[in-house]
Amino acid sequence: MTLEKDMRCPYCGFVDSKVIDSRELDEKVRRRRQCLKCEARFTTYESVVERSLFVIKKDGRREEFSREKLARGIGKACEKRPLPTGAVDSVADEIERELYGLGKAEVSTVTIGDMVMERLKRLDHIAYIRFASVYREFADIGSLKQAVDDLMIGEKPRLVGTGQLPLIPPPAAAAAPARRLRRRAKRH
Ligand SMILES: [Zn+2]
Repeated sequence: MTLEKDMRCPYCGFVDSKVIDSRELDEKVRRRRQCLKCEARFTTYESVVERSLFVIKKDGRREEFSREKLARGIGKACEKRPLPTGAVDSVADEIERELYGLGKAEVSTVTIGDMVMERLKRLDHIAYIRFASVYREFADIGSLKQAVDDLMIGEKPRLVGTGQLPLIPPPAAAAAPARRLRRRAKRH
């Protein structure tokens, strides 16, 4: 790596430092570092491009990781879903950070896909199913149904309070008017 020279302590020239804070700015990462020798603090601007990370695709081909491409894929799954502004970008940012945090030179598309699925599952069930249908390459309606069933089973306890509308409305909605009628009858 060519970065090491730039990350030397500007006060004593020592090569090793620890990261105190890390912030992403456009194509750079700003890091607050502390020298492990003299303990002085300094800031480095590291280029994302130089921290190269390769993605191994299913067919074995390698390609440089692209945050833009990741965000596009997530964005497509989230199209027209009522999500807060910036939700897609923050998912992409989170995954990018986690990927670089792994400290590996290569990751598989499977790893990235799983990270996206995990987040979309919490964010929006429709987006999750859409993403899964592309990523898992559902061959037929049966495998789509299986994914929805798995989602319903896996998420049942968490549906309470997540603010998400269930994929299939619960039967309780139909029972409600009857209760109201009974109450009114009692009053008279
Ligand atoms: Zn130093």
